[in-house]
Amino acid sequence: AVGDPVVCSIIAGCGACFQCVRGASALCEDVVFYTGRMLDGTTRLSKGVEPIHSLSYQASFAEQAIVPERCAVRVSKQAPLEKLAGLACGVSTGLGAALVRSPVEPGSTVVVIGAGGVGLSALMGGRLRGAASLIAVDVVPHKLEKACELGLAEHGIDAGRTDVVEAVLELTGGRGADHAFDTVGTPESIAQSLAAVRPGGSVVVIGLSGASVEASIPVQHLMRQKTLTGTMGGSIEPRRHIPEFVDLHLAGRLDLGVLMDSEYRLEDIERAFLDLAEGRITRGGIRF
Ligand SMILES: [Zn+2]
Repeated sequence: AVGDPVVCSIIAGCGACFQCVRGASALCEDVVFYTGRMLDGTTRLSKGVEPIHSLSYQASFAEQAIVPERCAVRVSKQAPLEKLAGLACGVSTGLGAALVRSPVEPGSTVVVIGAGGVGLSALMGGRLRGAASLIAVDVVPHKLEKACELGLAEHGIDAGRTDVVEAVLELTGGRGADHAFDTVGTPESIAQSLAAVRPGGSVVVIGLSGASVEASIPVQHLMRQKTLTGTMGGSIEPRRHIPEFVDLHLAGRLDLGVLMDSEYRLEDIERAFLDLAEGRITRGGIRF
């Protein structure tokens, strides 16, 4: 309704297809994520006769936007909106991976490859689920330091200097981790993830380094009953999970603010992108 605070999710879902009625909106048969069009196949913006496309139904960097109704998720009026922006995409993706796609069990050991915004969110999900040990992996040392400083990881592994699989095995007494979440999605990181989990463990690929990436895996990992799967947007049902994440934040159990570590005006957007590209910020928000 008019005046409702909303988070605009990248996951639309028609609500009526085979996948949607089974609670898998992220796999909706009628939605194509990257066309830049609305659900009816058209665009709402144009410049002269030329249509203007908007990424993932959002067109984020605008003072006004038209989005599909199912993408606009109403949240609590008490919620601080500037801390929730990440729930539209990256934060929900990381949280959903650890809470929805492959729920982390209390007491387990979790490895997250890539300690950017999505990876930190997966670590937050693991922490929330009661993981006993969280291991962050990255090639940028200050990202590992940040993960540990925020209390989102007990251990940081510098993949540029250390053999990731050996390090994880050492930290787990030779057994391997229970879960791995790979936000990098290269053939190497997928192979590392699969080798770093214990027999019976689970690997979820969250990120894709390129649309046509192929990975080759030793089939013996499958005979050891390891699971290799992936997730689209954290596999969340936006209208169920986003309000839950907000309620957890309001209850003091999920600090969504720690990832949103900077704020910009719209006219400073170029600087925001530069800060992100050069690793000075985790996630920036634009205040309108
Ligand atoms: Zn659908």
